[in-house]
Amino acid sequence: MTLKLGCIADDYTGASDLANTLTRAGLRTVQTIGVPSDDLALPEVDAVVVSLKSRSIEAELAVSRSRAAEKWLRGRGADHVLFKICSTFDSTDKGNIGPVMDALRADSGDKVVLVTPAFPETGRTVYQGNLFVGSVPLNESPLKDHPLNPMHDSNLVRVLTRQSRTKAGLVPLADVTRGPAAVRARLGDLANQGVGAAIIDAVFDADLETIGEVAVGHRVSVGASGIGLGLARALTAGGRKAAEVAAWEPIGGPAACLAGSCSQATLGQIAKAKEIMPVLHLDPDHVVEGKEEGRRALAWARERLGSGPLLIASSATADQVAAVQARHGREAAGHAIEQAMADIAEGLVAAGVRRWVVAGGETSGAVVDRLGIPGFLVGAEIAPGVPVLRTVGARQDDMLLALKSGNFGGPDFFADALKLMR
Ligand code: ADP
Repeated sequence: MTLKLGCIADDYTGASDLANTLTRAGLRTVQTIGVPSDDLALPEVDAVVVSLKSRSIEAELAVSRSRAAEKWLRGRGADHVLFKICSTFDSTDKGNIGPVMDALRADSGDKVVLVTPAFPETGRTVYQGNLFVGSVPLNESPLKDHPLNPMHDSNLVRVLTRQSRTKAGLVPLADVTRGPAAVRARLGDLANQGVGAAIIDAVFDADLETIGEVAVGHRVSVGASGIGLGLARALTAGGRKAAEVAAWEPIGGPAACLAGSCSQATLGQIAKAKEIMPVLHLDPDHVVEGKEEGRRALAWARERLGSGPLLIASSATADQVAAVQARHGREAAGHAIEQAMADIAEGLVAAGVRRWVVAGGETSGAVVDRLGIPGFLVGAEIAPGVPVLRTVGARQDDMLLALKSGNFGGPDFFADALKLMR
């Protein structure tokens, strides 16, 4: 199998978002958790998104991990590698976008790397090199107060110049609007001026298609899910639809739902789930105090698994959460509850559960880590941004999962998910 596209994402949720976007655009896509082992058995796929957690680590470490991911992807035949960054260009003057881009550029032999975080359908546009978040420039958006990487400059040519060893330049919208040939001509001019990284304007979805068409002729590009969409369109030439990539063999077996998210949306979804399945509410104080509550939940679940799906939730209202945090500390309570959910998941796998719906970003991370799942094939979309996932290369039999962060999904999310997870 030869990959059409390799991607390296600098965080997990960004990786899921990209994998979902590529799948919707018709590329069969696997998302891996970290750099996969050399012997990972992949199904027939077009794209792999390697999820790293490299956005806010030391630049040197981000470079070495990204290089390892690139090596793996090239080894599977990927001609083009997209380095997936946040659509708000989250970074500091030290990196990590510039240093990783420099390293991938050096490895690829490309003279100029195309760079754009634009994704017009989500309100991220770039004009004259300035990134807009909705209607305001980046430096006036909430990103100006980000705790890890506050963004005080909306001009990405300047931002990238500060982080990179190469000179950065601009492909303005006027060229993009004139089409791929005009963009290629501008890139040629920039290369002659010694520019190694080109920020490309994009304001409309059609701009991404022009950019994608040019990018597939390069070895490396840098951007968010928008350029991913452009690349996917160029690679499928509009041929394949999302539905065709999602026809999987059913998995069967018992199904379980776990909820650790305390968002309004999740609380509403749990209330609705009660109409169709048994629900156990964990006592958060007991969870923090020891393992007994997890064992109680497992015993409760084992008795009921044969009769249909069930839900175990730690979720509580904001007042209740604040009270628990006041008694035990925010971090300690959160960590203990996440680990209890992971314990319960491990116990339920042993009891035969193969279909999972997990509510909560951190909660999902804890469950996936504990089950040691190396990667997922992305399938049908349950709700915007939440696809069904099928495990790839797991030590257990194949499993289906729906991993939902807090506010995603409609009121019937649990039922909607299970309907698509046969
Ligand atoms: P979301 O996607 O909604 O942010 P997360 O799973 O990422 O959900 O985060 C929820 C956090 O709240 C987790 O750390 C979880 O362990 C913690 N938590 C869950 N239930 C409770 C509770 N009853 N009291 C305090 N913390 C809780």
